[in-house]
Amino acid sequence: MSTATSYDVVVVGGGHNGLVSAAYLARAGLSVLVLERLGQTGGAAVSVEPFAGQPARLSRYSYLVSLMPEQLMADLDLDVRLVSRTTASYTPWTRAGRTGGLLVERPEGAATRASFRDLTGGDEEYAAWQRFYAEVGDLAAVVAPTLMQPLPAEREVRALVPEGVWADVVEHPLGRAITARFTDDTVRGVVATDALIGTFASLDDPSLIQNRCFLYHLIGNGTGEWRVPVGGMGALTTALARAAVDAGAEIVTGAGVSAIAPGTDGAEVTWHDGTREHSVTARRVLSGVAPWVLRILLGEGEDAGTKPVGSQLKINLLLDRLPALRSGADPEVAFAGTLHLAEDYGLLEQAYAAAAAGAVPDPMPGEVYCHSLTDPSILGERAGSQHTLTYFGLHTPAWLFEADPGARELAIQRALASLDAVLAEPIVNCLATDADGRPCLEAKVPQDVERDLAMPGGHIFHGDLEWPWAPNRARLDTPAQQWGVQTEHDAVLLCGSGARRGGAVSGLGGHNAAQAVIAEL
Ligand SMILES: Cc1cc2nc3c(=O)[nH]c(=O)nc-3n(C[C@H](O)[C@H](O)[C@H](O)COP(=O)(O)OP(=O)(O)OC[C@H]3O[C@@H](n4cnc5c(N)ncnc54)[C@H](O)[C@@H]3O)c2cc1C
Repeated sequence: MSTATSYDVVVVGGGHNGLVSAAYLARAGLSVLVLERLGQTGGAAVSVEPFAGQPARLSRYSYLVSLMPEQLMADLDLDVRLVSRTTASYTPWTRAGRTGGLLVERPEGAATRASFRDLTGGDEEYAAWQRFYAEVGDLAAVVAPTLMQPLPAEREVRALVPEGVWADVVEHPLGRAITARFTDDTVRGVVATDALIGTFASLDDPSLIQNRCFLYHLIGNGTGEWRVPVGGMGALTTALARAAVDAGAEIVTGAGVSAIAPGTDGAEVTWHDGTREHSVTARRVLSGVAPWVLRILLGEGEDAGTKPVGSQLKINLLLDRLPALRSGADPEVAFAGTLHLAEDYGLLEQAYAAAAAGAVPDPMPGEVYCHSLTDPSILGERAGSQHTLTYFGLHTPAWLFEADPGARELAIQRALASLDAVLAEPIVNCLATDADGRPCLEAKVPQDVERDLAMPGGHIFHGDLEWPWAPNRARLDTPAQQWGVQTEHDAVLLCGSGARRGGAVSGLGGHNAAQAVIAEL
């Protein structure tokens, strides 16, 4: 229960971003109250034991970290280790009866070059790959240092970036660059998937939402490396909550906010603890909930027309052993990174078209990855004798599951079929069972994510991503505008995934909102 009726700042939503805000603001000496509707903080960055009788603690929703700046982790003294994966990706392929796998190591070495040669018959595709990612690296090196600064204007970023990569990534649909630079459909697909995580689009979509998603996946800490949080995502958000509380912030869980009423120099927040209603005033309210949800809390009503639409299928599996692959690759190498399934470029476009027309894609594009190969600690006493597998499926928009009650089961079966297609034995043979003898498999379609976390439409970023800079003609008068966290109300700022630069587990929404408040108060 909160101890006061008035605070400098009330943070609505105790997701990882809300916690980052609270930690920075409390450290700056402000009084801070975080209100979280669920029984625990962390939002989509949490670990749970989903299978009765099994000690494995899985990152239930988000699972890898790239975008959280090392500077932010150092600022907040976070005692969290992010570990590199030795395999960046592995993509099984079958051509004219021959099976193989495209291995991309981290760092790339002789095996990566040999693997490109095995797939494409020469070295040209790998040279194109190296050229492309070197150029994208130039763009990342310019953007990454700006993420914890006030927004640069587009023209300022553009002036520092080579013209070719700017045109490829920022100006034209990404499909143009991918098809011009690469010839192999499998290689093209590996490049393309970073544009489609949680983003329902064709690679040729004129909105460029796929380009923005691609950019976010490549800029983290200037390297774009996706690392494993040791102990799972829950370890990260537990450390964030501790940082906030140690600095003096108050956190109340089981506190569902029902209304925010902005006034002339502050706002009133109404919340419910399940038994009774409370209200509290604040000089600033930070919204860690999606902008679409915020509008409801501000009394603007539900607008079905602007509601985000999530498009992913997440499946968590616990295995008694890793399965063998048809390609003969070592499973400990293949599953250690992102293992692409049915993600050839042509298949991605085909899946998009099918889902846009209302059908569950067949084959289902997606990727799997084994956390426990890099960090067995999440298995508890079963470390060494079990493995986890995380499946993230693309192009399963929420509407598929609304239209047809059988679509959920069909999507799960197709996801498993895409996996089985590259395995030497069916994955079900490897599944552990829970205390009741049921296979250890839990699936989350967008509706589940919305129900669990109040992410509207189950959209993993609270809405489509925006460019991480300000349009040239944007008004940047107030600190909130300068940090990309403004709403229509001076006393209410965005601190979550829906802030400009807020998407993913980055803490950037939280950091940037805190900086704006510190500048304003
Ligand atoms: C399946 C899935 C996989 C993902 N994988 C990755 C990944 O691997 N890496 C990555 O970087 N990102 C990933 N993401 C995206 C990432 O998890 C989110 O962008 C990020 O966690 C959002 O954090 P947040 O703090 O902004 O919001 P949230 O995590 O959504 O937190 C918002 C909080 O507000 C609370 N809340 C909502 N309404 C109210 C209310 N009325 N009153 C009080 N509290 C309220 C919610 O309960 C929640 O705790 C994934 C997301 C999903 C769903």
